[in-house]
Amino acid sequence: MADCLFCKIRDGLQPADIVYQDEQVVAFRDLRPQAPLHDLVIPREHIATLNDLGPEHRELIGHMHLVAARLAREAGFAESGYRTVLNCNRGGGQTVFHLHLHVIGGGRFHLSGG
Ligand code: AMP
Ligand code: ZN
Repeated sequence: MADCLFCKIRDGLQPADIVYQDEQVVAFRDLRPQAPLHDLVIPREHIATLNDLGPEHRELIGHMHLVAARLAREAGFAESGYRTVLNCNRGGGQTVFHLHLHVIGGGRFHLSGG
């Protein structure tokens, strides 16, 4: 997707603070962090939303969560706690249409809201 911001980050065409990458995913710091830890984990494959996942993505979506846990652990939030968020479509708060898992730690979280 030539006009996708996160594809550009994946390809090194848009600057980002990349914290992890492997053959399946890239993770980088959110531009406008909502908490001391706020990373985004994206698949290398351009997948627009959660609705676009198929059975072939089972391993990928699991891997994204394993990477999220690793990033939280490395940032020191494994025990104190953190949040993962995946927004789907505009009504779900999605603004960038390349699948991404937020990893947020060190904020003051209520049970169900920010
Ligand atoms: P969402 O609202 O779930 O689509 O989240 C999109 C996230 O992408 C927001 O938290 C933005 O702050 C973040 N974001 C937007 N542009 C960039 C960028 N160039 N680099 C890193 N994060 C970005
Ligand atoms: Zn993309």
